[in-house]
Order: sequence, then structure tokens, then C-alpha cells
Amino acid sequence: MTENQISVKTREKRTVLIVDDETINREILGMLLSSDYDVLYAENGREAMEKILEYSETLSLVLLDLLMPEVSGMEVLKEMKETPAISKIPVIVMTADYDSEVVSLDLGALDFISKPYPPQNVILARIRRIIELSEDRQIIRQTERDGLTGLYNLDYFYNYAEKFEQYHKNVDMDAIVVDINHFHIINERYGKAYAERVLRAVASKLREYAGSLGGIVCRKEGDTFMIYCPHTDDLSPMLDAASDELEGDEATQGRVHLRMGIYPSVDKTVGIEQRFDRAKAASDSVSGNYARNVGVYDKELYEKELFAEQLAEEFDRAVDECQFSVFFQPKFDVRGDEPSLSSAEALVRWNHPKLGFISPGVFIPVFENNGMIQKLDRYVWRKAAEQVKRWKSEFGVTVPVSVNVSRIDIFDPEIVSVFESILKENGLSAGELVLEITESAYSDDEEFLISTVNSLRDMGFRVEMDDFGTGYSSLGMLTRLPIDALKLDMIFIRNAFSDNGDMRMIELIIDIAKYLGVPVIAEGVETAEQVATLKEKGCDIIQGFYFSKPVPPSDFDAFVAKKTAV
Ligand code: C2E
Ligand code: MG
Ligand code: MG
Repeated sequence: MTENQISVKTREKRTVLIVDDETINREILGMLLSSDYDVLYAENGREAMEKILEYSETLSLVLLDLLMPEVSGMEVLKEMKETPAISKIPVIVMTADYDSEVVSLDLGALDFISKPYPPQNVILARIRRIIELSEDRQIIRQTERDGLTGLYNLDYFYNYAEKFEQYHKNVDMDAIVVDINHFHIINERYGKAYAERVLRAVASKLREYAGSLGGIVCRKEGDTFMIYCPHTDDLSPMLDAASDELEGDEATQGRVHLRMGIYPSVDKTVGIEQRFDRAKAASDSVSGNYARNVGVYDKELYEKELFAEQLAEEFDRAVDECQFSVFFQPKFDVRGDEPSLSSAEALVRWNHPKLGFISPGVFIPVFENNGMIQKLDRYVWRKAAEQVKRWKSEFGVTVPVSVNVSRIDIFDPEIVSVFESILKENGLSAGELVLEITESAYSDDEEFLISTVNSLRDMGFRVEMDDFGTGYSSLGMLTRLPIDALKLDMIFIRNAFSDNGDMRMIELIIDIAKYLGVPVIAEGVETAEQVATLKEKGCDIIQGFYFSKPVPPSDFDAFVAKKTAV
């Protein structure tokens, strides 16, 4: 028995409502119960409904006479069943008519007491048993359900899915994931109460639709729903049904969109969690795609998954065999007449013995997903610090190096001490390393993020917000989060300098940086024209192929040598 159950069972007196039109019956029952229970009375069905609604929070049981003038006991039962707030309050019906028993049990009564009344101890035992039973059921219901939406929570969902499978071995099943696009923006822009209403609306539509197919639904976390149901060829009506209320919503004017990932006719030799990982991968494959909102797990995603698994398996050996190396790309300060080297960014490279060079764009997301990034990042941070130390001793100058810090690192309670020891090992101060945190890491647990960034800045680190413009942090968030620079994502440079280029995004971001009082760094800058325009618009620092690709440390020496020569 859990602590929760004990406290429920030892709670003070339960409240019981006796509904009977005959005064004598009310008095007999009242006398029987009053030493163990707080007793309420109602003389007819109408009064009963009033009391039930009034005491819905505390009422443990209703003893209901079936035969009453005006509103009958049957009608009370029916109404209770249809009113969610009181539908779970247990009812024992009291009747002399055996035929009505079956009907009332069908209507949701849990038990009956015949009239004339059986002996006192029989009545008391029945009442106690029904109250206990329904309280236990309620506790189970609470633990297996998500409080906000009433859907199953994850553990129970997997449990029921597996149970379903045991009894329906030959039924073809689909694993489905439904996500709300940019849910955190909805949260920010329209408020928590509105966002919760969206979650509840989507949940109830999904439950209704999946239920009609014989499926079950859970809310995994935040805005991710999972559905397991017998195979259907076309699931887009489910997505339409779930989007229904959102389209016509006045507040958001149809700006809230859902997307769906389907792993159809699941392979049952694959574990239940992995089936939903596949559906999730399908959903993510259409994330940010305005033309398509349904993704299907197919051969291409399967091959991607296999490749990711292979990379994950080889990771430890790759670290041991030093297959990873760190390249450096210069960042130039363009505020003066001549660009001058201001710092470098450390970028990891994987030189795979069989596959050759693998792009970080491929393996970083894999390692971010499975948590291995932490080990890789620490390795890169160490290498970067060693490099700063070497340049210092060989050239007598500090070229600060910025390292990438993943979302997982931020939520690692050891991050501060890891950096402390890296600095100590290399005799560096925190000003000699810079931390780049990608903007998409900013949306999670805001409080924790802010406190980690604060601790790192207190140590003396400068923190730059990487890939700015691709995540969805709000201005409000930016003003709460202390940062030292904004790194404009290269997508804006691409867009601005493409055929129908539009500089407005860049201008806007530069304005935001000015407002925050921090410099702007542009990355992915490839041409002299881009450098000139960005400089003119007010960009402070530039990184990109125009100056140099990321290069091995020995090639970077030339930049350091040039800096010292000035
Ligand atoms: P990022 O941190 O935004 O790094 C900038 C990326 O832009 C690098 O890609 C760099 O090579 C590329 N780049 C720089 N200038 C230009 C240019 O002028 N044109 C073009 N087309 N590209 C340019 P890279 O090295 O492939 O890295 C991709 C991403 O992988 C990085 O984006 C970063 O998010 C991640 N990454 C790289 N190394 C690490 C690492 O050690 N740890 C972590 N957590 N992430 C890393
Ligand atoms: Mg970076
Ligand atoms: Mg970047």
C-alpha cells in the first residue's frame, strides 16, 4: 500500500448522502451510519442532484432509493453518469424490485441493498467495501493518467499496449506520434492557460478518434501525444479531427498546427519504445515543413536509424583511437579599418577509418539524442584549452577559443566543475575560453538554464548565443538571460544574399542585439560583398569561408603569427 493510500484510508470521516423519499428510511439508515460517517440527506431526486453537485469534492458515496416521485433514482443515476465532475462518485441503489437492479447496475451503480434492509453489519460492510474499492480505483486512475489531459501516462500506456498485444497477437498495429508545432511559442505568446486548453482539446479529439479505431492514447510529455491502434490505411482524418478546434480559434487564427508521424504496421519484434521512436522520427522528418504535416517511417528513415546506431556503437572506440580531431575557424573583428583576428571557434571533425570524413551535421544530432555528446564535448573543450595554452606559450598571445556547449551539457550538474578543472589543467583564465550555446537549447527549463549561464558567467566566461534566429526564444526571455553576444545563424546570410534577398531579418537581429547591448557575430560569410554589407549594417564580428574554412591547428598558426606581427 502506498503512503497516499494509507492517508486516504485513515482520513477523518467520509461523507455519505442518503437519498430516500420516506422519512423513516432516512432515519433508520442515518442512525446506522452516523457513528462512522458524516451523513447528508435528500428527500427527492432534485434535491439529491443539488447536494451531489455541492459536495462533489468530498462525497464518498450516495445511497440512492430508486422509487421516488418526480425525479426518480434512475434519472439521478443517468444524470450523474453524464456529468463528468460527479460521474465517479460511487452509488449504491436501494430497491425492493429485483428487475431494477440490473438496469441500475448498467447505469453505473456499484452495488445494491435490498429493501427491507438486511442486518446492520451487512449494510455497513457493503458501504465500507464500495468506498474502499472506489478510492483504490481513483488512486490507480490518478497514477495512470496525466493530470492535465486525462490521457494515460507513459508507463501505463506502454503497459496497456503490451497487454493489448498479448491478447491480439495477429492484429496489425500502427504506432503514431502527434506533435504541436512550436508549442513553446504558443505558451509564450498566448499564455499557459491557453496552451493548456490547446493540449486538452487535442487530447480529447485524439482520444475520441483513436477510441473509435480501438486504440489508446497517451501524452508523453509537453506537446507530444502517442497513439497505438489497429492499422488504418489513411490516418490523416485523425490529424484533421485533432486540428479541428484549433483552425477556427479566434485567439490564434489558425496559427497552431499539428504534425503526425506514423510507423505503420509495426514490426512486433521491435520493442514497444522503439516503435514509438520510429513514429517520432517520422514526425520530426516533417517538422518545419509547411507543405507536409504527416510523415511516414519508411526505408529512408530506417537506413538513417541504422546509420545512427552504427555511429553510436563506434563512438567509444573512435574516442579511444583518436578519430576525432578539432579544427579551428577564425572570427574577425571588422569594426576597425582592417579586420583583425578576435578569436576562433573549435569545431569537431570525425575521420572515420572506413567511412572517411563524417560531417558534424550528421553525427552531432545522433550524439545529442543519445547523450554521448557530453563525452565528446568535454574532449573538444580540453583540446581547445590545450590549443589556447600552446598558442600562448609559442606566440605570447591569447587567442580565445569558443567551444560549442550542447543542451545536455547545460543540464549537467557537473558542468561548472568540469570547466574549472579544464582551466586549471591548462593554467588558463575563464576569459580565454568562450562558450557558444545554441539558441534551441534555450527553450527548455528556463530557470535552470539561466542559473547555469549565470554560474558560468560568474566564473568569468563569455557566453554567446549560437544560431540565433533559428530557435524561438522570446524577447522577454532574452532580457532575462545574461549573454555576451548574438551569433546570427548563417541561414539569414544565405537568405539575405540570395536572388530576392531580404535584409530585414538581419537588420532586425542587429537591432535586438543593440537593444540588449551585445555585439553581433555573423557566421557563414563567404564573399567580400557580404562582409561589406554586414559591416555597414552594424555587424561587429565575422566568421566564414571568406576569411577561412575551419582548419587544423597547425594551419591556424599563420593567423596567430600574423596577429602578433601587427
Ligand atoms: P555551428 O556551431 O553553428 O558552427 C558553424 C558551422 O558553420 C560549422 O559547420 C562551420 O564549418 C560552418 N561554416 C563556417 N563558415 C562557413 C561558411 O562560410 N559557409 C558555410 N557553408 N559553412 C560555414 P560544422 O563544422 O559542419 O559544424 C556544424 C555544427 O555542428 C556546428 O554549427 C555545431 O552546432 C555542431 N558542432 C561542431 N562541433 C561541435 C562540438 O564540438 N560540439 C558540439 N556540441 N557541437 C558541434
Ligand atoms: Mg557554434
Ligand atoms: Mg552557429
